Amino acid sequence: MSNQRAGREVNPNPLPRERVSLRKTAVHPEHHRSSARREIPTARQLGVRPSRILLRGLMAHCPACGGRYIFKHWFMMANRCPTCTFRFERVDGHWIGSLAINTVVVFGAMLAVLFSTVMVSYPNPTPWWLLWLVIAIGALGPILFFPPSRMLWTAIDILLRPLLHGEVDPRYIAVDPYRDRPPRT
Ligand SMILES: [Zn+2]
Repeated sequence: MSNQRAGREVNPNPLPRERVSLRKTAVHPEHHRSSARREIPTARQLGVRPSRILLRGLMAHCPACGGRYIFKHWFMMANRCPTCTFRFERVDGHWIGSLAINTVVVFGAMLAVLFSTVMVSYPNPTPWWLLWLVIAIGALGPILFFPPSRMLWTAIDILLRPLLHGEVDPRYIAVDPYRDRPPRT
């Protein structure tokens, strides 16, 4: 018994515990920022429903504020929203997602037209113009859907990865991710 007690006294272990607790309580600015990102979704930050953000994107408007005049012409868009200053290309390679959306939508439209026309004309032969119609959709679809696909992808992106502090003009922010973040527990 005395040996065990002596052993406990000889081998105390307070120092590592203190080190661990200090490490846990230290708040790195990036951690601070990332936790704020997790805590306040974009829809809540902007004070609108997620469906509205998606609808804005589908209409080729700024998903953050609903502002227009983003596209100088059909293929050339501004880097930032002229209304709320939101920078659309949030990370390098951002637009790959819009390409994917464009491809899926155009292929979906081609398949839908092909399938529905074949079903309607069955059992008669498929009309000759169907081929040209599908080709026209495949050729023009990506061009026509270019602006909406870009803003729709940006809308999805800000819903998946909440806005950071300062990304959008504060006048369009209902709940600021830095100022109004929930208290730490
Ligand atoms: Zn905007």
